[in-house]
This record gives sequence, C-alpha cells and structure tokens, in this order.
Amino acid sequence: MQRFSIFSLLRNGFRYRADWQRMWRSPEPKRRYDVVIIGGGGHGLGAAWYLAQDHGIRNVAVIEKGWLGGGNTARNTMTIRSNYIRPPSVPFHEGSMALYRELSRELNYNLMVGRRGMISFLQSSQAARTAARMANTMHVHGAKYELIDVEEIKRRVPIFRPPPRPRLEVLGGVYQPEAMMARHDAVAWGFARMADAHGVDIIQNCEVIGIRRSGAGVIGVETTHGFIEAGKVGMAVAGHGSVVAEMAGIRLPIEVQPLQAWVSEPVKPVLHEIVVFSGYGCYMMQSDKGELVIGGPTDPYPSYAQRGTFRVIEQVTSAVLEMFPIFTRMKLLRHWAGMLDIVYDGSPIISKTPLRNFYVDIAGAGGFKTTPMAARMHAWLIAKDEPHDLIRDFGLDRFERGRLVVEGGVSFNR
Ligand SMILES: Cc1cc2nc3c(=O)[nH]c(=O)nc-3n(C[C@H](O)[C@H](O)[C@H](O)COP(=O)(O)OP(=O)(O)OC[C@H]3O[C@@H](n4cnc5c(N)ncnc54)[C@H](O)[C@@H]3O)c2cc1C
Repeated sequence: MQRFSIFSLLRNGFRYRADWQRMWRSPEPKRRYDVVIIGGGGHGLGAAWYLAQDHGIRNVAVIEKGWLGGGNTARNTMTIRSNYIRPPSVPFHEGSMALYRELSRELNYNLMVGRRGMISFLQSSQAARTAARMANTMHVHGAKYELIDVEEIKRRVPIFRPPPRPRLEVLGGVYQPEAMMARHDAVAWGFARMADAHGVDIIQNCEVIGIRRSGAGVIGVETTHGFIEAGKVGMAVAGHGSVVAEMAGIRLPIEVQPLQAWVSEPVKPVLHEIVVFSGYGCYMMQSDKGELVIGGPTDPYPSYAQRGTFRVIEQVTSAVLEMFPIFTRMKLLRHWAGMLDIVYDGSPIISKTPLRNFYVDIAGAGGFKTTPMAARMHAWLIAKDEPHDLIRDFGLDRFERGRLVVEGGVSFNR
C-alpha cells in the first residue's frame, strides 16, 4: 500500500505527471459545425452536452473567449432552490433541482451536490403574505415550502438569537427543505468532460467578435480564430447578452448589473441551512470548506466593471452581523463580483429570435440553479426549432404580448 505523507503530497504536487489525462481536448476549430454555442459557462457547455446526449447532434463547438467557467459559473454563491411565485417558474426550477440530484451520476463527476435547506426570515407582514402565496403556487406543483415560526428557526439554526432591538423584527420564516448547494466550477468541468467525450469541440481563448447573417438568418460566427460556419448558433454568455446579440443586430430587454459576494475565513461547521434576510435583501450560508458565503442585491446601475461598490458590502455585512452577532470578529477572506444580465421581469429568456437559426439563453439573475434545465431546454430548442412546453412562457415574444413572468418578492436570493 502506498504511504502518504506531507512530503509525498508535495513531491506529487510539484511533479509534472505526463500520464495524467486531460479532461478535454484543445482542438483547432473546424471550418463548419452543425451547431456553434457561444459561451463556455455551465449553460453553454450543458447545452452542448444535451445536444449530443438527447438529440445525437455531435458536430458541435463551444466557443469561449476566456477559460471554462471563468464567467459567472465560478463566481456565484452556489444556491439551488425553486421558491418562485408564478406558475411557469416552479416546474422549471423544480425540474432543474431534479436534474441536479442525478447530475453527478450522469456525468460521472462529483459536483458535491448537497441538500441544505433554506430559511427565508420574514421581516414584514407583506413578506409573510407573499410567502404564503408562493407556498400555495409551489404546493400545486408538488414542491415543499413551509411557513415556520421563530421557535422553529431557532431550533434549526441554534446560533440564531433574535436581536433585542432589530431594525426589522423577525416575524417567522419560510423553509424550503430541498434547497441545495453544489460546487459551481465542477458543473462546468463535468459538462465539458462529457461533451468532449461525445465529440464536442471546446475552443477556449477564442472570442466571438461578429455574427454573420445571410438575409433573415445566421450562417456563422466571426471569431479571433477566423470565420466558423454554423448551421445553427446558440448564445449563453451571461453578462454579455446584449453585446453578443447586438452583433446579430438584435436588441434584448436586459440590463447588465454587477453582483457581489464575499467569504470569511473558514471556521468549524456552525450553519447548515442557507439563510435569507428578506427585509434586508441579503443571504448567507457556510460552504463545505467552512467559509461563510455572503451575498446581497445587485448594485443598482449598469456596469461591465466586474466589481461592485462598498455601499452594498457595508449594508449587507451590517445586516448579517445584526442577525448573527456571533460573527462580529470574523475576518473577510475574499471578495468578488460578476455581471448579470438582468431581465426586466426577473425570469430567464430561452428563446428563438427574429433571426432564423439564432437562439438565446439568458440566465438572468439566478442562473446557477437553472443550469441543467436551461441548458437542456436550450438544446431542445436548437434541435427541434420549437420550445419545449416547460419554456413556452420564457420566450422573447412575452415582452411584445405583455405576458411577463414577474418574479421577485420574498424569494430574494440569487
Ligand atoms: C456574485 C454572484 C452570485 C450568484 N449567486 C447565485 C446563486 O447562489 N444561485 C444561482 O442560481 N445563481 C447565482 N448567480 C447567477 C449565476 O452565476 C449565473 O446566472 C450563471 O452562472 C450563468 O451561467 P452562464 O453559463 O449563462 O454564464 P457564464 O458562466 O458567465 O458563462 C458565459 C461565458 O460566455 C463567455 N463569453 C462572453 N462573451 C463572449 C464572446 N463574445 N465570445 C465567446 N465567449 C464569450 C464568458 O467568458 C463566459 O465564460 C450569481 C452570480 C453572481 C455574479
């Protein structure tokens, strides 16, 4: 039996292992593909995998301007939930959670999917009413969502002691037992590995700089590696949706806003559930590494800067410390931001476009949780040129017909 010590760990860590297999190839782009997907995050890589697996379409390329998962996929706070209020939203998000539960097995790659449960603290009677409505919608679709009192919150989160003089009193909570967390970059790597094994070409460090049209259709993409002809083109570029769509001459009803998150130094396990403070618009959980992961609202202005303002950090941190003074002396370890394509009604867009053979998947504000389902639906749309029933309400036509799927309310949590 091989003995492991700190020395063998260091020796192996620094030694180049020629026998280690690459997880995916780095091919030169071909001149033509049946489908080109722009964007190598979870959504784009997932779409490529589902095109190959569900529809047998394997002459596919994923074009990524940086590295896989380097966008929002590896910047998010990893929460997966389905507490939404409109009827089309719940089955879509519930379906995504069901896919996540099986995904490690399906991709043969450990995504570290773990059931945590999520408690939203209700801090106004309006929030409590919205939670009750949401629970009704969710129950109709078979999802679990329970109103709980402060005693139950204390039982589930023993470190919570209702503060004596809160700015907003905690009236109770609402609990989603099935809420999960998963390792975000592993989602991109798992999809990439399987897509590659099924013949998909993953091309990194290659930026799409133009979309070539012929009449009312798209025929390929201009890239920093030259023109690539494509039968169909799908776009999953969160945070760059308007920039890339504009290359095809299309304006989307979205706006880019920065979203920040930060983590503390690691500590022993103290918080199992994901907790959301609905009145303060922020949330917190403890990662498997022991870090407290903290997030809040988007910065309220459009920006591509990939960084947010101190005002949000201050506002969110003071809310977290008001609720959990136990963390007052902890140190901040890292902070970062990503750019979200904010859709005006708060729901995703997975849709055909006015251009033939050009499809878009706009993840919206909370697209980590939807990654497998959105990717699968995007692949369906590309393969069949028709939306699946689950995404009929998420098309671009809803903005023309006034049939918005307005989301928000107490579920605030990305
Ligand atoms: C701080 C933060 C916290 C979040 N927390 C959560 C959460 O807890 N739960 C949740 O569900 N969601 C969360 N989200 C949202 C979630 O991360 C995103 O919605 C989701 O990851 C989008 O995935 P994607 O694959 O569409 O995009 P990305 O992972 O951003 O991938 C898009 C890719 O497209 C590439 N690209 C862009 N332009 C081009 C081009 N011209 N040519 C080629 N490639 C291009 C980019 O480089 C990028 O890699 C959070 C986001 C942030 C920023």
